[in-house]
This record gives sequence, structure tokens and C-alpha cells, in this order.
Amino acid sequence: MTSDKLGGMKEKASILKVKALITIRALFVTLLLGSSFLFEIGYARFPYPHALSYLIITLYTLTIIYSLLIGKIKNLKVFLYIQLILDVFFEIALIYITGGVESWFSFTLILTVISSSIVLNRRAGYIISTLSSILYGTLIDLQFYGQLPIDFDSSIEGKDFLYNIFAHIISIYLTAYLSGYLSYRLERIVQKLEERDADLRDLEFFNKEVIESLPSGLFTTDTSGNILIFNRAAERITGTKKDFIIGKRIDRALPFLKLPILDGRMEGIIKDNGVEKIIGLNISTLRDIGGKDTGLIGIFQDLTELKKLETEIKKKEKWAVIGELSASIAHEIRNPLASLKGSIEMLKEGTIPQKHRERLMEIALKEMGRLNRIITDFLTYSRPGPTEFKRFDLHSVLDETLELLKNVEQNKGNISIKKDFSGRLEVNADPQKIRQVFWNLGINAMEAMPEGGELVVSTKNREKTVEVSFRDSGHGIHEKNIKEIFYPFFTTKEQGTGLGLAIAYRIIEEHKGKLTVNSRYGIGTTFEIMLPMADGK
Ligand code: ADP
Ligand code: MG
Repeated sequence: MTSDKLGGMKEKASILKVKALITIRALFVTLLLGSSFLFEIGYARFPYPHALSYLIITLYTLTIIYSLLIGKIKNLKVFLYIQLILDVFFEIALIYITGGVESWFSFTLILTVISSSIVLNRRAGYIISTLSSILYGTLIDLQFYGQLPIDFDSSIEGKDFLYNIFAHIISIYLTAYLSGYLSYRLERIVQKLEERDADLRDLEFFNKEVIESLPSGLFTTDTSGNILIFNRAAERITGTKKDFIIGKRIDRALPFLKLPILDGRMEGIIKDNGVEKIIGLNISTLRDIGGKDTGLIGIFQDLTELKKLETEIKKKEKWAVIGELSASIAHEIRNPLASLKGSIEMLKEGTIPQKHRERLMEIALKEMGRLNRIITDFLTYSRPGPTEFKRFDLHSVLDETLELLKNVEQNKGNISIKKDFSGRLEVNADPQKIRQVFWNLGINAMEAMPEGGELVVSTKNREKTVEVSFRDSGHGIHEKNIKEIFYPFFTTKEQGTGLGLAIAYRIIEEHKGKLTVNSRYGIGTTFEIMLPMADGK
């Protein structure tokens, strides 16, 4: 809140006080003085019976003048002081004309003290008290010494006069103290309330402005899914008006949400005026300070454009990969073909001694074998058969693969294979393809440990996934190669095809899983397969 506004509010409050003071005075004059005038009380006794009428007329006139001045006077404080001081003088005059020490109207001084504490402050209360005490004391003194033409009962003695003054002064100051204390407390409370009000306003501002200006859609619901907050971005993304949706269930705005709604990330499709939109949504539980669930909060974005871009990029990447692939195939096949061609041409000449002939034949056969391998692997990679999902025990497939790995030529008897799993682990996948992945990873591990080492295979059964890891103590992968190992034809081996990992990667992708690698050059490598858990376990 600005200080301007605060100032404005204070001024309004002061004007109200001025009006209250004027009104109450007018009422007082009418009720008390007016009635005494009406009943002609004291007419017989008062020294100046008509003075009362003049006093009343003067007070009414002043009331009219005060009322006219409201709104014109800038300094309300001074205005109030003038009124209160004049009030004291009128009261003293009233006491004077109604018999001085015998007057019933000395209590009006106390009323003015209270008024000044309320409409101004504690200090004003004391100032008015002092003024009242001095004037009252002077009046009674003058009366006692016969300086004023007011009669009094001859039975009233000097000490009665003294006591009268004393009692009045005490009451006036006591009243100033009490009413001042109360008005001070009141002021403090009002101040505190105002501060709290400002805090609340800040909070409201936060709620309104910050939440409304978020670029993401935001909603909150109660525990039964009824919408409480729905911001501008949410309106824009869903095409649903806030006024319509507040209080209704959240699946009216985001129909893909199925109750009961669970925490987490999700994606869904909505229709806005017949246009499909892909929505990315994040939901969490709202809790109060006590930790009790009070509903949900959701933040969502329109992912349509992003998804479009993503598919476009994927398409482009695919073409780039195909181009690269064709180049690599040509290169991979041309090399063995060239050496085959060379060997055969030399053999054709017929002049080569028998010993060399056999060597050339050997080369030719080896190159043919290599060609064969490349082509078979490549066919597996580029024309994979359909994935046939089936429930099977993953552990027994792993067992079989590891048994075969023990006896491959790459294992010269110095590699130990450790199984870190037991029991059954049912999954829903294509057993043939999964076996191929295990085999490719296993062979790579063997080939990474020509000097011997250890291969540890372990599995983990998580809530929604199954993880299998192959950890070897081989030579590891150079950091600069780590990005390329999954590309087809990337190999660091003389006889390698560079298709093993590409095939494995592709198969795991077909299973909606993940294949990741973690390697430290010179220390070892871990490949980790993550497969989504088959539903129903
Ligand atoms: P290939 O085995 O025919 O070379 P892969 O696709 O199976 O092709 O592997 C690609 C490359 O990744 C290998 O040449 C090797 O450099 C690296 N690699 C794969 N597995 C391992 C491993 N377990 N340890 C070290 N390097 C590995
Ligand atoms: Mg390999």
C-alpha cells in the first residue's frame, strides 16, 4: 500500500472524528441545556437566567459554523483543538451562570477531557485537563472571594470550596489518564490491524497477480477434484473460461485426467474448438501446515508446438543417419571386397608358389567371412523381425547366455563370470531379441578383457522397471568415443562390425526401455538395460 493511500485513509478517519464531535455536542446542547431551558430549571436561582438562552444560541451557531468549515480546513488537528478549547470556555461559562460551586454542570468538563483523548490523543487529554482545572479553579476561587456576582449557600465554608476544587482537579486528571490510556491502546490496535491488513493485501496481490501472470497453466482443486483456482494461462490453453469452470471437477477442463488423480508427470490430449492439443501436466498434492491433504495443484503447458518440432527433428535425424549408414556400408563392404579381389587376381595368375597360394586363399576366406558377418549383422539391424512379446523368466535367459559365453574363443579361461541374481524374474518382452542383447553385451565385455578379468551380471527388480547390468573390468571406453559406440559401424576392433551395440540399442528401444553406458578408461565398463515392467507383474 502506498503512503498516499494511508494518508488519505487517516484524513478520512479524522474528518469522521470532527463530525462525531460536532454531532455529539449538538445533541448534548439540545438534550441537556435545551430541556433545562424548557422546564425553566433554576430560573428563580440563577443570577442571569437569560444567559443560558444566549449560550445555547451561541453553541448552535458555532455548530453550524463548524459544520460549514469541515472540508475547507486543511489542518484538522488545529480545528479540533480550537473546538475543544472553546468547549472548555463555554462549559466554564455554563458553570458560572448555573451557580459556580453549586452548579450541576461541572461534569461537562470531564466529557470534554474524554472527547479530546478520543478525537485527538493522550496529550490533548492532558492539555484540556490542565486548561479545565485552571479555569475551574479560578472560577471557584473568584466566587469564594466574592469577586463574582454569584450567590451561594451560606452554609458552604472555605474548606468546602477547597475540597470542591481538589475533587474536580483529581477527577479531571484521572479521567484524562484513563481515557488517554484507552485511546492509546485503541490506536495501537488500529495500527496493528492496518499492518495486518497490508500484509493480507500483499498476499492477495501475490495470489492474484503472480499466479495470474504465470506463463504456465495453473489450477488447484479440493480433495474431491473441484477447481478452486484456474489462472489466465490455464484459460488460454484449455479454451475454458474461469467463471464457468471454477467449482466444477477438473476433468471438465482436462478430460484426459481420470479420477482419482495421482501425483506425477503426465501427458494428455485435449480438444479446444476442434483443435487437438498435447498437454504436459505436473500434479502434486497440496498440504496444509499440519500436513493434511487439502487437494491438488497442477501446472501444465501446451506441448503441441514442441512435439511437432521434435518429430521434425527426428525425421531429419533419420535421414542423416540413413545417409551416414549408406556411406559406411559402402566403405565396410569395399574394403574386404578389395582385398578379396586382389587375392583372387593373384591366384588367377597361376605363377604363385604353392606356399603363397595357401596364404592368399586364407586371406580370401577370412575376408569373405568378414563380409558375411557384416551383412548378417546389418540385416539384423536394418530389417529387424517383428517384436513378439511374451512372458518369460529373464533369469533363465541370462543363465543360458552366460553359459555360452564361458566357452567362446574370446574367453581364454582367464575371465570369471559372476551372476548376481537368483530366483525367477518374469518379464513381458521378446525373449529372442533380449537374448541377442545379452549376447552382444556379453561378447563386447569378453573382447574388452583380452588379459582376463571379471564380468558381473546383476538384475534389479524395481517397482515399475527391471534393470540388468553387465559390468566388466576391461579396458574401458575412451571418453571421445563414448558418444559414438551406439552408432552402426562404429568399432575400434580390427575384426569388428560396429553393429553389436547398435542392434542392442534398437531392440531395447523397441521395448520402450533404455540402454546406457558408464565407463572409465582403463578400469572397466558397465552397460545397463532398463526394461519397463510388464503390467500385472
Ligand atoms: P564391435 O564389437 O563390433 O566393435 P559394438 O557395437 O559391439 O561393435 O561396439 C562398438 C565399440 O564399443 C567397440 O568397438 C568398443 O570400442 C566399444 N565397446 C563396446 N563394449 C565395450 C566394453 N564392454 N568395453 C570396452 N569397450 C566397449
Ligand atoms: Mg560387439
